[in-house]
Amino acid sequence: MTAMDELDKDRRGFLRAAGGAVLAAGAVSGPAVMAGERQAAAGGAATQTRESQAAITPQQALQMLKDGNGRFVSGKMRPRDLLQQVKATGAGQFPFAVILGCIDSRAPNEWIFDQGVGDIFNARIAGNFVNDDLLGSLEFACAAAGAKLILVIGHTECGAVKGACDDIILGNLTHMLANIRPAVAAVTGFESDRTSSNAAFVQAVADKNVVLTMARIRERSAILRDLAEKGEIGIAGAMYDVRSGQVTFM
Ligand SMILES: [Zn+2]
Repeated sequence: MTAMDELDKDRRGFLRAAGGAVLAAGAVSGPAVMAGERQAAAGGAATQTRESQAAITPQQALQMLKDGNGRFVSGKMRPRDLLQQVKATGAGQFPFAVILGCIDSRAPNEWIFDQGVGDIFNARIAGNFVNDDLLGSLEFACAAAGAKLILVIGHTECGAVKGACDDIILGNLTHMLANIRPAVAAVTGFESDRTSSNAAFVQAVADKNVVLTMARIRERSAILRDLAEKGEIGIAGAMYDVRSGQVTFM
């Protein structure tokens, strides 16, 4: 090996070491952003960019959420400099997924999927259903802003689902809960007790509500159905366990 080769080898090693240090600190911005995989290897969390978002497939987006929840439940969340991510995303956002979930305070999507600022859109409404306004939000996320995955996520012990099971009449809640009643009606059996006091019935309705919501997205949004049929986005469902922190994907 010549002296020049030796020098070059040292330089490459230095660059690798320097890159690793920068990545671990989360100080990533501009065109020199590394791919998410390389950054993940260095232990830090990637901030999504136009390039990284474009490179993610719907399948990879789903896997990123699965991996994120795996880190969350094992207590191995990535180090993340949120203020740095605010600065890195201030001029533009490139989230890889949009999550339609419940407003429940125990189901904060960035935390349970170990994601940071600019990583995911959140559409939240009690009972995680869709209406025209929410479909518009999902269309914005996918067709205008480039998200690759719609994840519909329900959760255990959902108050909105319980309210729909019990036919609660209360102000504007009455109208809102009507969006969940199709799931109540679609769950057969449980004839001895079809109220919120039957935990198994409540969970069956919550599961059915996710399935029906996924179907409704395809039925009622030609834009999202078209993107899904072209393979440009994925539509997936999941259930979050508020006692364990575990997400089960359907
Ligand atoms: Zn809920």
